[in-house]
Parts: sequence; C-alpha cells; structure tokens
Amino acid sequence: MSANQVRTRYAPSPTGFMHVGNLRTALYEYLIAKSQGGQFILRIEDTDQERLVEGAVEIIYNTLKQVGLTHDEGPDVGGEYGPYVQSERRDMYRPYAEQLVKEGKAYYCFCTKERLDQMHQQAAQEGGFSGGYDRHCRDLPQEEIERLLAAGTPYVIRQKMPLTGSTTFEDAVYGAITVENSELEDQVLLKTDGYPTYNFANVIDDHAMHITHVVRGCEYLSSAPKYNLLYEAFGWEVPTYVHLPLIMGKNEDGSVSKLSKRHGATSFEDLVTDGYLPEAVTNYIALLGWCPKDNQERFTLEELAQAFSIDGISKSPAVFDYDKLTWFNAEYIRSMAPQEFTRIAMPYYQQVMGNTPLDWDALAGILQPRVTKLTQIPEMIGFFQQLPEYETDLFVNKKSKTNLDNSLVMLQHVIPALEALASWEHESIHGCLIGLAQQLEVKNGTVMWPTRIAAAGMAVTPGGAVEILQILGREESLRRLRIGLQKLEP
Ligand code: GLU
Repeated sequence: MSANQVRTRYAPSPTGFMHVGNLRTALYEYLIAKSQGGQFILRIEDTDQERLVEGAVEIIYNTLKQVGLTHDEGPDVGGEYGPYVQSERRDMYRPYAEQLVKEGKAYYCFCTKERLDQMHQQAAQEGGFSGGYDRHCRDLPQEEIERLLAAGTPYVIRQKMPLTGSTTFEDAVYGAITVENSELEDQVLLKTDGYPTYNFANVIDDHAMHITHVVRGCEYLSSAPKYNLLYEAFGWEVPTYVHLPLIMGKNEDGSVSKLSKRHGATSFEDLVTDGYLPEAVTNYIALLGWCPKDNQERFTLEELAQAFSIDGISKSPAVFDYDKLTWFNAEYIRSMAPQEFTRIAMPYYQQVMGNTPLDWDALAGILQPRVTKLTQIPEMIGFFQQLPEYETDLFVNKKSKTNLDNSLVMLQHVIPALEALASWEHESIHGCLIGLAQQLEVKNGTVMWPTRIAAAGMAVTPGGAVEILQILGREESLRRLRIGLQKLEP
C-alpha cells in the first residue's frame, strides 16, 4: 500500500434489505476510491448482535455483485488488515480501550444498571434530563478502582470527554461543524461483557484498516464529534468525513418526507423485483446527491468512476423520483442488444408462454421500444399465448378507414394471400400485405388494421400486424385470421 493511497470502506450492519440509501453509500465509497486509483473495502459491522437479520450478509454480497461494486478486501476475499467481520475482531478492541485508561483519557465505570436507571429517573423528575451520564466514576480514587477490580465488580470503560470548550470537525460536504463539549456524554467504549460499543469498534477498525475517507448517511453527522474526539485521544489522523444528504420521497400532496415504503420500493431487491435493471438503478442512484460537471445523465459504472468527485456531492436532500428512474430504465432497455434483452426478459416470457419458443429477436424488436419496466412484459405478450375474447367493433377504425364490411373483405383476401406465401418472414409478410393494399386500391392501414385485430384480438398491441403475424407463426396466424373472418361473416 502506498502512503497516499485512497482507501474507502463500505461498512454495513447486516440488519435487513439493502436500502437505496445504503446502496448509494456503497456506490459513492467505491467511486471515491476508484476515481483516485484507490482501494474499496467491505467490512461487516455485526457488533450489535441483537439487530442482526439472518440472510442479510448474503443480500449485501449479492447486491454488490449485481451492481458491480467489486471490493478489493473483505471477508470473502481477505486482505492485509483482516478479519473484515467485526465479530471476528472482538478481542482486538480491549487493548485500545485499556491504553486510553492508562493515559488518563478513559476510565472504568462500575455504576450498576440500577444506579443509572435511578439517576435517569431523578434527572427526568428534576427536568432538563439530558440522558447523559453524571460522570460518577470519572474521578474515583485509585485504591477504590483497584479494590473494585480485585473484587471482580463488573465495569464498562468510558471515554473522558473534555468538560469545557468545543469540538470542531470538517465534513467534506457539510463544511465545519462545531459542538459544545459540555453536550457530549462520557461515551462507553467497552461494555460489561468486554465487547466494544458500535462507535468504538467503527473508529478502531477505520484506523486499523487505514481508511482515508469515511462516507455515511447524514444521520451519523451528530455522532461525528464523538468519533473525532476518539481519533484525537489516540492522536490518530482523522479521515475525511463525507456525509451524504437524506433521500426523500414525494408524497401525494406534493410535499416530501424521508423515503419510505409508502413511496414505493425502497430496497435494491424490491426495485429489481419491480422490473428495474441493476444498471439503471445504479445510474439513477449515482445522481441522487451528486451532480456531474457537465449535464451528462447516462453513465456506466466505469464512466462514473472517471467522472466522480466529492465536490459534486450536494448537501440538500435528494428526492427519489420513480418516474425518472423509469425513464432511465426504458433508456437502458432500448439500448440493449436484442439477445441480451431476450436473456433478461426470458423469466417474464416463461411466466406467460411456458417453454414455447417464439421468434425472440422479433419479440425483442417490438418490446424494447415500449417496455419501461420488465414486469410489464407478461401483460404485453399475453395475447400471443391465447387469443383474447373480443367484440367485432374492434375492427372499426376511422383513421384506417375500416368498418365491419370492408374488414370482412380484407380478411377474405389476406387469408389466401398469406396461405400462398413460400416463407414466413417479416419481409415476405410485409410485401404480401402491402401488395394486397395496392391491388385492392385501399390504404395500407385498411389491410393492416383488421389483420392485426384478428391476429391479436386487442386494439392496442406492441408492434404492428406484420410483427405479430411473424411472431405467431404461419399456422397460428391463419387460425386466428379465420376466427376473425367467421366473426365478421353475416
Ligand atoms: N454500520 C453502519 C451502517 O450500517 C455504517 C456506519 C459507517 O459507515 O460508519 O449504517
């Protein structure tokens, strides 16, 4: 590792699904590292065992993989500064806490839970309850400490926060932030069970793993002074803090509030289940709080890694706009190679068609320009599987100049003409129908409209008559056209 190497980490607590806010944090950590030739590290923060959710670690791995955020170090790939799971580092934290005790920057606190509860109750009754600790054990005489330790009295280790003055820290997005030290509680570093508190483990690990940039949601902004004072107590260099703006959702009345389920899907998995492509989600999320120097909107991950810079991050809340995400999704779907589209659309095709093969390229040709979310596919292609029940008034269309009488005539001509075709391809079907219109001296639409209605049994379809016939195949097309004819016959 070179001295100036940028090292960022994504440090999720495995407590459930991957919220878009978490994914954005991971993405920005990755981009900050990769835009500067740095390393991106994955660390699992499972100190808070009570909040763990089974399967959450797998979700983290899967999401990072699907999005393409490859970590250089982490629990599964190892690295110089492992282990990368906090529960496996448990014994590494105590010496640091003891070091601060020795240096007079932290102390043993023997207060029982009963005493703390009583203190809180009393403070609440007297008003002005700050929820803090009254520093009862901060200045215990040395003999008393030794006596209690020798008697095996349970204790926690607390940091001695400065009693006066203020602490200022710099955030790369929010600027300088100052808090009065008197507002800061003597925070617990090591708990009675000997394990670290979440904040303590986080700071020790960031230092031990040589993290240069700490990126996290702005809900952590209020904890930053406590982190800062820990770095100071150890005399360690403080990493660059990058706090990210809140992600809001639009309410029906036009106001905004913190993004939640009632606005729509809020986790990466749910967005994918809703029919959004991982690439589109990533692209959209990259712009939720970061603005490129020019007005480019579409970015691959590699392009983002080139363009990203911390000074483009905004501190004003970002609004998650599902319509905009859908626009991105449609753009990505449109620009896919047909074979790639077929691959990702296949599970949706199978929901409707089972394993019946279709002309996949032709299907991609009609769907790609129209699909905005993959979940729309089953409904769009349902008529290929089964001809819907329909009424003859669908044959009537003003623009195509069709009515029940001429639709009948058209189908009477279309059926034998198609039957005579040597090959069933787009060009031959198209040539046949256009030729017929010329021969009958009618608008192309006058032939196409009734043909499409009879083939699809629906007024609105993806693709026109030719594409639909091509995909249905000769036999099924002719069967449907004959049904249409029968419906129109007096
Ligand atoms: N483990 C924290 C979380 O999942 C991350 C905090 C941090 O990045 O420092 O929110």
